[in-house]
Amino acid sequence: MERTRYLIVGAGVSGLAVADWLGDEDYLIVEAEDEIGGYCRTVERDGFVWDYSGHFFHFRQPEIERYLVDRMGAQRVLRVERDSRIWYGDRFIDYPFQRHIHQLPEAEYEECLRALRSLPEGGGGSFKDMLYARYGRGIADRFLVPYNEKLYATNLARLDAEAVGRFFPHVSVKEILKGADPPAGDGYNATFTYPEGGAIQYIHALARDVRPERIALNERVESVDLQDKVAKTSRREIGYEHLISSAALISLLRMCGIRYDPDVFSHNKVLVFNLGFDRKGLEDVHWIYYPQKELSFYRVGFYDNIFGTDRMSLYVEVGLRRDAEVGADERGAMKARVLADLQTCGVVEDQALVASHEVLLDPAYVHITTKSDAEAASKRSLLAAQDVHSIGRYGAWTYCSIEDNIVEARSLAEKLR
Ligand SMILES: Cc1cc2nc3c(=O)[nH]c(=O)nc-3n(C[C@H](O)[C@H](O)[C@H](O)COP(=O)(O)OP(=O)(O)OC[C@H]3O[C@@H](n4cnc5c(N)ncnc54)[C@H](O)[C@@H]3O)c2cc1C
Repeated sequence: MERTRYLIVGAGVSGLAVADWLGDEDYLIVEAEDEIGGYCRTVERDGFVWDYSGHFFHFRQPEIERYLVDRMGAQRVLRVERDSRIWYGDRFIDYPFQRHIHQLPEAEYEECLRALRSLPEGGGGSFKDMLYARYGRGIADRFLVPYNEKLYATNLARLDAEAVGRFFPHVSVKEILKGADPPAGDGYNATFTYPEGGAIQYIHALARDVRPERIALNERVESVDLQDKVAKTSRREIGYEHLISSAALISLLRMCGIRYDPDVFSHNKVLVFNLGFDRKGLEDVHWIYYPQKELSFYRVGFYDNIFGTDRMSLYVEVGLRRDAEVGADERGAMKARVLADLQTCGVVEDQALVASHEVLLDPAYVHITTKSDAEAASKRSLLAAQDVHSIGRYGAWTYCSIEDNIVEARSLAEKLR
């Protein structure tokens, strides 16, 4: 039987960052797909560059960004001032909605203000309670609740108030009442960076010093014997000293034969359509949010306005319940609906679709609750006690960025070394 000191499951950001930081140590990465990158993959088709889903970057630690960019050689990294908007049916409202209610029709603006001036007492425990308590009915019912319900594909009363953490663009009532435009640098991604070759360039940068012979592609870890420290893959058995998994925590628990409550570990999935057209559409805007229940997607992004190219290149994100059927028929029907909806809301006029690609992210956004946090922590420490470390966005069952993944992976590699 083969043996390795560190067996790494998954060659996404987390798995590669661990290997990169382990350096000359004895490791092996086993990746189920036929290429590296996980959710940070990029496809190129008919001259269009598309990620698995719009991936834009806003590093909080400049040294991590520098570490990656320094390894990118001639690759250009664009720095872009975000232009993100909300489609309100007859007009665009700048994002975040709660800061720009002065752009609403007069009567609606007044209604939002009245609700803000008589906010209910207390915050309640759920994400939905928090939205009503902090922003009032006017803002919550017009955007925050319907939009987030589409995205998370669940009743927001099931999620914790802090479910979105630092990624929620909070604005104080005082600032809203001022009705002023936002100060420069507003929000967690007021400016973002994006490599010209797509998100995969960050993956190539991370993988630069990872030895290719230490990455086994097209090989899936199927089960793990915690006692004997042996992983069974689709090809062989591998003995390990430490197992580091970036697979979703629920998959790892299944591999290890550990039971869990699927209602605690709930999540949505996101079906992404990347669509290339023969001509340009809307100018300037980078992405648009859609709170309308009757429209299939919750967000549409414009790669052409990031790259400055002359053919409309979109990513369209559809939030689905975890049990939604997504076979070929359902995907075909959803694509037709997406194309029709893009016309309804004026994104597509008479442009012709010339290229497309679709991908399902499952899980995409985990539903964070007090219970899921507690359960994830307890399952992860149970595993860690047996030298199995569950990391990454889905291994930790959380909401985070690739930068967070790199920080976590490095600190684990340091600790294990
Ligand atoms: C819609 C969406 C938009 C996002 N946008 C951004 C953004 O703009 N900026 C940002 O910083 N982050 C963004 N993220 C988050 C980012 O994608 C993740 O943080 C990051 O890709 C997670 O990397 P990972 O390596 O932890 O997991 P993954 O990318 O999921 O990698 C896990 C790898 O493990 C492999 N694997 C799983 N099971 C097995 C098995 N049994 N055997 C072998 N291999 C296995 C998988 O094939 C995969 O390659 C976004 C996420 C989503 C869903």
